[in-house]
Amino acid sequence: MSQKEQRLRAAQAAATAAGLDALLIPPSADLQYLTGYDAHALERLTLLVLPADGEPTLIVPRLERPAAEAADPHGVRIVDHVDGSDPYELVSAAIGKADAVGLGNRMWAEQVLALRAALPSAEQRLAGAVLAALRVRKSPGEVEALRRAGQAIDAVHTQMGQWLRAGRTENEVAADIAAAIRAAGHATVEFTIVAAGPNGASPHHGTSDRVIAAGEPVVVDIGGRMPDGYCSDSTRTYCIGEPPAEFAEYYQVLFEAQRAAVAAVRPGVTAESVDAVARDIIAAAGYGAAFLHRTGHGIGLDGHEEPYIVAGNDTPLEEGMAFSIEPGIYLSGHHGARIEDIVVCTSSGVDRLNTIPTELVIL
Ligand code: ZN
Ligand code: ZN
Repeated sequence: MSQKEQRLRAAQAAATAAGLDALLIPPSADLQYLTGYDAHALERLTLLVLPADGEPTLIVPRLERPAAEAADPHGVRIVDHVDGSDPYELVSAAIGKADAVGLGNRMWAEQVLALRAALPSAEQRLAGAVLAALRVRKSPGEVEALRRAGQAIDAVHTQMGQWLRAGRTENEVAADIAAAIRAAGHATVEFTIVAAGPNGASPHHGTSDRVIAAGEPVVVDIGGRMPDGYCSDSTRTYCIGEPPAEFAEYYQVLFEAQRAAVAAVRPGVTAESVDAVARDIIAAAGYGAAFLHRTGHGIGLDGHEEPYIVAGNDTPLEEGMAFSIEPGIYLSGHHGARIEDIVVCTSSGVDRLNTIPTELVIL
């Protein structure tokens, strides 16, 4: 049995255990995980109908059929529909009678409501938890895919001195980084955060036409998707020349916190306890309020997925779970810093998939 068929069987078993008659999965990382098909989300319906018991059916627009067949979804029957026909009739035909269905978490609302009309007796629930339980522990092959992604993004960070200089805009630097992300082997550029000076205090600042000045810290958080679908995501903080004194002080706190949180990862430790390791160090230094997000997120075919490394998540870490460790300190109006590595929990500890140093880089 192929890996794709094994995943479909495991998803069917999980659906049965969850009391769902079928999973209905639109274009998403879930669909790619189960079938290998990296489909576009369009207004035309593409939907994997995976009965808990029975043959999986992939419903696609006729013009997408060649792309779906090229993905070679083992053990899945492909059914197409033409413009002007009602594709939701194909869904009810593929399922038969259902009391409860699990909808992919990223499904568009218009599809949710159309499915409610097509399957009026079926309770709608989320499929996400069912599939996350399968996806959250990466296979050795997936870990290697994430390691290749990590090496590719590391290679971009190590070239930063070529692009990141005073007098250039964040946009100009980001354009160079984007080209390098592709050149390093990614299929797509997912994000390029170049946040200089006060922009660094906004964790999800993108880029802007602001000119970078000497003496400014710059947060650079970048990532892409490799041709196999697996994502990279890594942050380093740079300084253009000597850093401001306060920045240098809290960067050292952040460095210790990030390193300690990475070192805390091992099987059986809860996700929230890893968050607490970073947070306690930062809070003890007086910067607790300036660390305004969770410590990390899982990563795989999605850039953000389970497990989330956050207070309240008492999930014990298990071998194969891959996630970011990315504490930050943000001083509004001044500057900020973040350090982010992707790590994987191993049978006995932790494996860092980003391997470049985490010290402040002075350019
Ligand atoms: Zn990031
Ligand atoms: Zn991240």
